Amino acid sequence: MQLKKYVSKNGHNIKNTFIDENEQIWRICTSGKACHQLKSIEDFSRTRGALGRSHSCKVCDTKRAQEQHKNNPQARWANDTIRRHRKRGHIVNIDAHELIAFAKTQEYCPIDDVKLNWEVGTKNGVAGLDSPTLDRINNETEYNMSQVWIICNGCNSSKGARTLHEWLLHSEAIVEKLRLYIPKRAEIEKFAFNELWKLCVENNK
Ligand SMILES: [Zn+2]
Ligand SMILES: [Zn+2]
Repeated sequence: MQLKKYVSKNGHNIKNTFIDENEQIWRICTSGKACHQLKSIEDFSRTRGALGRSHSCKVCDTKRAQEQHKNNPQARWANDTIRRHRKRGHIVNIDAHELIAFAKTQEYCPIDDVKLNWEVGTKNGVAGLDSPTLDRINNETEYNMSQVWIICNGCNSSKGARTLHEWLLHSEAIVEKLRLYIPKRAEIEKFAFNELWKLCVENNK
């Protein structure tokens, strides 16, 4: 392969970029902890700047993102959360830095004190009941910092689209109904729970 320095139409040399005899463009991966390998320009992500491609290759970009995630899972969570909500068409008036700072102060779910698992979306972490989620406290139409909190996935699934008030009433109604079958808190320990659903179904008239 014959490589020549790549010269732009304006006569500028483009750093670490070359062209071969078949007009294919190549670049040496630089910037940050780069691999310094010569790769096809296709192996660099699209970005603004020199030839519309990054100076570090996709492999190095992925490695860097993984390292950042390992050191700062709250940042990954906050960025992902904002992106995901916007993609679904929600209006999110929240700055990522603000959300990251808040997330770092939230070790437990404020509702049921479950320890939040920030390792969501990593190789080993699958979203679970203890995954942190961003919830609109009263199901407002937009996401604003003063109207959201970070609660566990379990609480958020149970709350659904309800306001905090509606959810509390709903939960209380469940407890009140089941109290018909389990009158005392202390009896929960020894209650035959495989009988509970039968009682519910039988009395459902
Ligand atoms: Zn590289
Ligand atoms: Zn919770």
